[in-house]
Amino acid sequence: MNVIPPIPNSLEQHWMPFTSNRHFKANPRILTAAKGMYYTTDHGDQVIDGSAGLFCVAAGHGRREIAEAVNETLTTLDYAPPFQYGHPASFEVARRLASITPGDLNHVFFSNSGSEAVESALKIALAYHKAKGEGQRMRLVGRERAYHGVNFGGLTVAGLLNNKKAFGLGLPGACHLRHTELPDHQFVEGQPETGAELAEDLQRFVDLHGADQIACCIVEPIAGSTGALIPPKGYLQRLREICDAHGILLIFDEVICGFGRTGKQFGADAFGVIPDMVTMAKALTNGVVPMGAVACSDHIYETITEAAPGNSIELFHGYTYSGCPVASAAAIATRNIFDEEDLVNRAAKMTPKFQEALFSLRDLPVVANIRGYGLMGGVDLATAEAPGARGLRTTQEFYDAGLIVKMTGDCALISPPLICEDQHIDEIFTKLRDVLSKH
Ligand code: PLP
Repeated sequence: MNVIPPIPNSLEQHWMPFTSNRHFKANPRILTAAKGMYYTTDHGDQVIDGSAGLFCVAAGHGRREIAEAVNETLTTLDYAPPFQYGHPASFEVARRLASITPGDLNHVFFSNSGSEAVESALKIALAYHKAKGEGQRMRLVGRERAYHGVNFGGLTVAGLLNNKKAFGLGLPGACHLRHTELPDHQFVEGQPETGAELAEDLQRFVDLHGADQIACCIVEPIAGSTGALIPPKGYLQRLREICDAHGILLIFDEVICGFGRTGKQFGADAFGVIPDMVTMAKALTNGVVPMGAVACSDHIYETITEAAPGNSIELFHGYTYSGCPVASAAAIATRNIFDEEDLVNRAAKMTPKFQEALFSLRDLPVVANIRGYGLMGGVDLATAEAPGARGLRTTQEFYDAGLIVKMTGDCALISPPLICEDQHIDEIFTKLRDVLSKH
C-alpha cells in the first residue's frame, strides 16, 4: 500500500505555520522525499539541504536505523501513559542524555517540542523557587532578538518583534537583556572580542527589581533564529557569575545549539559555562518524531521533589506524549548514530572548511554581515525594502537553484546536517554565491 498521498490539487485548507500562505500557495515548494543531504521535489529535482531541515536533521535524511526503531515500537508498544506509568525507552533516553549534558544536569523532563521544553523549563524555575520558600521570585529574564518558541512563556522571554506583536503582553514582570550584536561585530569569525559587558544588564535588573524577585535568566548560547549571534567572549561566563551571586537560575536554550552544532555536544561545552537547565529538541530525534526535553541539575530536581509531602506528585506539569515510546525509540536510535558516527567530533572536523566557505561570501555586494561558529552561519543581506521581502524572494531563488537554506527575515541561516562532506559544503556555497551574486 502506498502511504504517501498524491500531490494535492488544493493547498488552501492547510494554514501553514510561519509561512506567507498567499505567496507559498501561488509558488508551492513541495518536497516529496529525502535521503542523506538531499530532498526530492514534486518535480523530481534534487535540492541540497543547507539547513538540516530546521536545524534538526543532524544525521542526514532517511536514516534506516531510526525508521526501524520507530517501526518496531509502533507494533510492540504504541503508547504508554507517562503519568504514574513508565516504559523502558524513556528512562534509557534520559540516562543517555544525562551522560552527555554538562555538569550535574542529570534529570530529564520530556516535552514534544522546543517550545514546550522552554515552557517546562520556565515552570520548573518557578516551581524550584516556590519549593525553596521563595515563591515571590517570578520575574523571567530573556533577551532582545531571542527565539524561545511560540508559546506564551517562550514569547514572554523572547525578543523578536514580529513573533510577539500580535499576541498581547505575555506574562507580567519579564525583563530583557540587550542583544549582543554590536556595531563593531562586522564579519567577525567566531566569538566577538567585545560585548561581555552587556551581561551587566542582568545586574541592573537585580539592582532595579531586587534579586529576590528574579526566577531565571534564559538565553540561547548562540541566538539562532535571529541570525546566529555568537556570544561575545566572557559574556556567558558573566551571566553565570551574576546568577550565582543572586540565586538566579541560568537556562540555556539549546534547541538549535545542542547535539553537535557548535562542534561540541552543547553550546554550554563550546563556551565553557554550565547552566542550571538546558532545553533541547530538534536533533534529539533527528527531526523524525517530535520530542523536546529539559535537563535539570541535581539540586533543582532534589529541591522540588523533596519539598513535596509524602508520595504526592512533586511537579504538576507534563504532556500526554512526554517521552512517548515512539519518540523515545527515535531518540535512542539517533543517539546510537551520533555515537557510532562520532557526529559531534565530525562537526568539529568540518568546521574550518565550513567557516572558510561561509566567510568567503563577504565580497558579495549584497552581503551586509556574516557571523559563524561550528557548523552554523548567518549571512545578512542588505536591503532597502520592507524587512523580509528580499529574504522571501531569495528563498525562492535558492530553491530554484537546488538549495534549501532557512531565511529568517533577510538573513540566510546555513546549518547543514552534521554528516556533510566537503563536496556538500562546496555545493551549498557555490549555490549561495551563484544566487547572491545576481542580487
Ligand atoms: N528554542 C529555540 C532556541 C529554537 O530555535 C526553537 C525553534 O527553532 C524553539 C525553542 C522552538 O522549538 P519548536 O519549534 O520545536 O517548538
